[in-house]
Amino acid sequence: MPIVKPINWLRRGVKEFLARGGLRLALPFCPDHAHIVTFHGLIDGPPRYATENTGGKHISVEDFQRIINWLRRHFPLVHLHDLIDSLAGGKQLPRNSVAITFDDGYESNYLLAYPLLRKHAIPATVFLTTRFLEERAPLWTCRVEYAVGRTQRTEARIEIESTMVSGTLNSDRERIELLGRLKSALKATDQSRLDEYCESIENQLGVRLDLAGDDDEPARQPLSWGQVGEMADSGLISFGGHSHRHVILGRCPEERMGEEVRLCNEILQSRLGDAQRTFAYPNGKPGDYSQTSHEAVAAAGFSCALITVEGPCTAGRTSPFGAPRVSVSGDTEPWSLVGRLVRPGANRAPAGTED
Ligand SMILES: [Zn+2]
Repeated sequence: MPIVKPINWLRRGVKEFLARGGLRLALPFCPDHAHIVTFHGLIDGPPRYATENTGGKHISVEDFQRIINWLRRHFPLVHLHDLIDSLAGGKQLPRNSVAITFDDGYESNYLLAYPLLRKHAIPATVFLTTRFLEERAPLWTCRVEYAVGRTQRTEARIEIESTMVSGTLNSDRERIELLGRLKSALKATDQSRLDEYCESIENQLGVRLDLAGDDDEPARQPLSWGQVGEMADSGLISFGGHSHRHVILGRCPEERMGEEVRLCNEILQSRLGDAQRTFAYPNGKPGDYSQTSHEAVAAAGFSCALITVEGPCTAGRTSPFGAPRVSVSGDTEPWSLVGRLVRPGANRAPAGTED
């Protein structure tokens, strides 16, 4: 008999065991780590264009409910600030605690996620890109997705720093490919020139995203400060920083790096009051942060700087500056999180979910 069959039976058996609550029996014997889980936005319907949500960072309401219900059945859900305190030997947490976070500051966090969090009294932290809310200026990733998805042009030839990105745009597949290459080039470039490059892409493709007139894709809209205030008043939801313009700090000149985190914290303080705030790096992969960026984030007044590399948080071993997180995307099955939470690093999130 081929060996693959017993392996498949075993895999199905483990999945069934975990789905039926077996994890609760197994957890006390697993290593005691805390974890930070990351979401971005939610959607309640399919995207209108193929270039939107290609990395699955906006998950469906149904998937969000399934994952949250599974997490709350199996893990103590705690405030992020308590988890960060525990890393430095502060308040001790229950075994295998999990803190929920959201990146960027999408309005769907309020409209679609908050009702479920409030219903079950689940604490969460939302990391805000302050220019996104303050000026309702679209995130650069949304600008590029929109321009590539909707242009009438049939080919593009765009220079970003010394990299030429070109291709034809005759099918969804070609548009998704070009989008991937544009995003990679933009992530690698000097981040202080991101606005300039996005403008050049929009000019060449003849399309510009204006959030004020964009009512056909609610997933791109930012939270309003009124919605932020209402969630903050509940005591369940706290707010941290995610830079001012969603730039990759590790690829910023030092002066711009300092300005990004300082401005971000100043706006949060003026809008929400003078509190100790958490920070999450945009993108958050190796190379997107450094010792210099950790120092800039700390100097701006933030208490931690979270990355998107997967791993456990362990008191006395994990630094709050560089604390890992587990990312959830559109194709994440709740049971597949077991491997990533209990056996860290076993399963990596797709590369597209960190924008
Ligand atoms: Zn982000």
